[in-house]
Amino acid sequence: LPRVLSGIQPTADSFHLGNYLGAVRNWVAMQDDYDAYYMVVDLHAITVEHDPQALRRRTRVSAAQLLAAGLEPQRCALFAQSHVPEHAQLAWVMSCLTGFGEASRMTQFKDKSAKHGVGAASVGLFTYPILMVADVLLYQAGFVPVGEDQRQHLELTRDLAQRFNTRYGKAFTVPEPYIIKDTAKIMDLQDPTSKMSKSASSPGGILELLDDPKVNAKKIKSAVTDTEREIRFDEENKPGVANLLRIYAALGERTIPELERDYEGKGYGDLKKDLADLVTETFQPFKERTEEILADTGKLDAILAEGAEKAREVASRTLAEVYDKIGFLSK
Ligand code: ATP
Ligand code: MG
Repeated sequence: LPRVLSGIQPTADSFHLGNYLGAVRNWVAMQDDYDAYYMVVDLHAITVEHDPQALRRRTRVSAAQLLAAGLEPQRCALFAQSHVPEHAQLAWVMSCLTGFGEASRMTQFKDKSAKHGVGAASVGLFTYPILMVADVLLYQAGFVPVGEDQRQHLELTRDLAQRFNTRYGKAFTVPEPYIIKDTAKIMDLQDPTSKMSKSASSPGGILELLDDPKVNAKKIKSAVTDTEREIRFDEENKPGVANLLRIYAALGERTIPELERDYEGKGYGDLKKDLADLVTETFQPFKERTEEILADTGKLDAILAEGAEKAREVASRTLAEVYDKIGFLSK
């Protein structure tokens, strides 16, 4: 089976709709056709200031949500990144292959550091894409299912894999991005020109899967649209409506033209109400399952430990090969 690898940060108490539609839902779908490795990337989560208690809680909440979404430990490896030390070890090697200018071109660093200024950002936030390079390459993944915001980091991954292979001999599979076009970028409900984000969206702009369904219904009803009335998909001139249509199509398994037809002559209020119902219907059971899974911490931790063991089998093999090729003495 071809291999896939992907990760999600434990940076919030709930995933949001963009995480679900852009990433997690695809992970679930890929479990059987791929040899799948999925992780909660706690090493990435400390690139911004954080609270240790919250990190511990959020790592479990993230794993529980992944299980609730449909990942099954028999069908994939689910683990916490910090349980596999090879990630940090390979990241060091890859950082020595990365040009400073090359790293400086990563736009997500520019975005994420803009708030407090580049000077206040951590070096870890700056080198984060290189850790992501290591994440992917350790597993020899052929595919990486992520949202559009990760495309540039995947390009870096491909460049560095090729560079290593050329300089030191082939150690890595060069991965392909696996970005689902229609849902790769879900936008902020209040600011439909920026992506929905755990760390950057305002509370009104983000739809958290574990939030009270009533709160989420309200957020959809107050989503920013435009002063026209017509429900049609026009990203450039009607980004708010386009975002709602895209979410509706993905969750309701309908096409956008079908929705445009159904809502001909109807108002934004009708669209929002139906979408709010659909969101409630989809995520109410998800929330309940997540809570059940979280109630048994022992079992959850055991699943993560088992996943880490599976992951290390692959990761340690790659790292040994890399260490040898780069000229480190064997023990
Ligand atoms: P943070 O703001 O802390 O970076 P995030 O919301 O960007 O959080 P991540 O944990 O960084 O979430 O990303 C997890 C996965 O979700 C990645 O594959 C990413 O591409 C995807 N993703 C994140 N935001 C969106 C979005 N708005 N639409 C589609 N996919 C998204
Ligand atoms: Mg992110």
